Amino acid sequence: REEMNIIQGALELRTKTVEDVMTKVEDCFMLPNDAILDFNTMSSIMESGYTRIPVFENDRFNIVDILYIKDLAFVDPDDCTPLGTITRFYSHPVHFVFSDTKLDTVLEEFKKGKSHLAIVQKVNSEGEGDPFYEVMGLVTLEDVIEEIIKSEILDE
Ligand code: ADP
Repeated sequence: REEMNIIQGALELRTKTVEDVMTKVEDCFMLPNDAILDFNTMSSIMESGYTRIPVFENDRFNIVDILYIKDLAFVDPDDCTPLGTITRFYSHPVHFVFSDTKLDTVLEEFKKGKSHLAIVQKVNSEGEGDPFYEVMGLVTLEDVIEEIIKSEILDE
């Protein structure tokens, strides 16, 4: 029965989209790019428990960087280092996918290795102005794998 579920889950990768499995932007733990890496900020990062943290400029719909927890290894909270100094130094690429991308496609992207996290965006053409990219959330390899095995992976 377990195997049947996994086969079923694997077949559904072709029809489900990243929007179905992503973590919505309002539930994402992110940091503004002008944050200062003082004790308070570092504590909230540690408490969040996440490995990768999107960094935004001006508003949460404008992701400009990804901070990896390991980037903080040499950061001393007493130095009050600006987050921008760290993100500029490591300069991890931000990987974007459109919300209607099918899960098999995003799985192939993740398998290529660069990053196992992608920012989900869509083209917003509502309203008067020009269409623009709007961030909807984030998706990781774990979200895709959970879809295959059809159960939650509890975090360590
Ligand atoms: P981590 O290594 O940080 O635990 P995973 O890739 O294992 O991240 O993903 C676990 C779950 O957490 C997934 O559902 C993913 O969408 C979500 N997630 C990952 N990073 C963040 C973040 N910065 N804010 C909110 N949710 C996140």
